[in-house]
Amino acid sequence: MSCCFHEIGHAVFHNLGIDKSFPIPTELQPATQEPTEQFGVRKTQLYYATCANRWYEELFADVIGLELAGPAYVLAFFKVLAGAFGIAPASPSHPPTGLRILLMLDSLESRSLIDVLPERARGLLRAWMTRLRKLDGDKGYVSSVKEDAEFSLRLMPILVREMKTAYAGVRDEARAVLSEYSTEKLTEDLQRGYQLYTRQIPPIEVDSKPTLTAPGIPLEAARVFAACWCAYMHSLEKDNPLTLETLDKVLLESLDGAESLRMWRQL
Ligand SMILES: [Zn+2]
Repeated sequence: MSCCFHEIGHAVFHNLGIDKSFPIPTELQPATQEPTEQFGVRKTQLYYATCANRWYEELFADVIGLELAGPAYVLAFFKVLAGAFGIAPASPSHPPTGLRILLMLDSLESRSLIDVLPERARGLLRAWMTRLRKLDGDKGYVSSVKEDAEFSLRLMPILVREMKTAYAGVRDEARAVLSEYSTEKLTEDLQRGYQLYTRQIPPIEVDSKPTLTAPGIPLEAARVFAACWCAYMHSLEKDNPLTLETLDKVLLESLDGAESLRMWRQL
């Protein structure tokens, strides 16, 4: 489900027709005017530009997911992609997962969105941040195509550096199409998550108290998703947190509920 918001990001990227022409870093410029060297350098530059555009699109899709669902998106993201100990390596099409998560966590932290999470969820996200900052500082990212020395040894470190610089621009571009995830939204998502976890009230409609005079206003899918993951965050405070299977089931049923409400209002 977290992947679904990421895929929405890809669709938005193509709809907007974002075409990023990255400047070629100085270390990829030819050292001499020799025609043979020029040719080799041109090939490397093209390879770099292709990777840079793909990585940029991935980061853009992550930002869309992040702004739709906030910390819930990151938590779901590393439950799906990073696992407990393994962090997916970089490839010409995808930035290292560690870098993707680190950029998202830094973005949340800079807006104080981690501060307000329940204690254990906050601790979990910050533990990841510490671990990933170390990995980043040690230049510890690995490549999935080790046999491709040009990518693994030469381009990957440059791409990591350039994407960090480009990240502010990615956020600006995303902000042009959707509003940023905010503390207000997180407070609501956490409240809905609490209601779900403690009283089994599914996050389906906007108002917590139904009016009973007309069908309620259905919650957006991203809010339903965020509330369910917030219920998971609340459950981490207890010794037997919700299982991911239960969470999946509750999430799908809540999405169904919100959709039914939407249909009902159209009758
Ligand atoms: Zn993607």
